[in-house]
Amino acid sequence: MAFVEQLGLVFVAGLLTAIATGLGALPFFVVDDFSDRWNVGLWGLASGIMVAASVFGLINEGLAYASDGLPLLMLSGLVTGVVLVEVSDRILDAIDLGDEDDHNHASDEDDASHSHDEHALEAKAFAEGDLRTLVLILGILTVHSFPEGVAVGVSFAELGLDGGFALLGFSVPLLAVFMTIAISIHNIPEGTAIAIPMRAMGLSKWRMVGAAIFSSLPQPIGAVIAFAFVSWAEAFLPFGFGFAAGAMIYLVATEFIPEALETGVELPNRGHRELITGLAVGVAVMIPLMYV
Ligand SMILES: [Zn+2]
Repeated sequence: MAFVEQLGLVFVAGLLTAIATGLGALPFFVVDDFSDRWNVGLWGLASGIMVAASVFGLINEGLAYASDGLPLLMLSGLVTGVVLVEVSDRILDAIDLGDEDDHNHASDEDDASHSHDEHALEAKAFAEGDLRTLVLILGILTVHSFPEGVAVGVSFAELGLDGGFALLGFSVPLLAVFMTIAISIHNIPEGTAIAIPMRAMGLSKWRMVGAAIFSSLPQPIGAVIAFAFVSWAEAFLPFGFGFAAGAMIYLVATEFIPEALETGVELPNRGHRELITGLAVGVAVMIPLMYV
């Protein structure tokens, strides 16, 4: 089988995992108006999903690769992930995504007429904060999905050798079939986790699906690169898994949980019960998926 065809197959596998992420946004087509209580619970759910995916999926997997001694590669990945979120956060703060200079943005119809209206100013400040959070969350989740694509690509290492699973004239290694399915399943709730903040910030339904799929587009790319340079990619995996886990856990701690607490300020018990319930459900949903 030609190498180009093999790369094509690996790309398609990666693309399937990305499309699965979009499925996670579909529940919001059915229900679309949530009370604050539900919103707090959903932030909790998103947090539970991401932390469980990080701890039981990525870190666990990273440790399995580093069988002897201290998992230094995984740990340095973890620290790099945390640093990436912190640095991106500061950069986003510094570049100011909002449009404060009204004269540069004549198209923004609210600015001119209501620039002295307190409510409009408040709404604008809120929207700017939202946009920053949105870019940060989408960016970090997009970056985290690259090493997962690498994992898919590595699992195709024995593509074309005997003993695989016959598919469209290819002999696909069973490991690759399992890996593609496992990452796809793992992506569905992650798609939900991405859609939750998007929805809280008022994005349209199709944009949520688009954002969810977009966040996983590094997967087909990572898969193809990893397949082409498989021994290099395998060496990179513990770092990549640690990196993805560090970024996601830190993102949950610095963005998701504070957002949930802020949303729940006026609820009985400040919404702590809803938050903890959401977290617990997220973890409970993810754990069985990690051991497929
Ligand atoms: Zn993931």
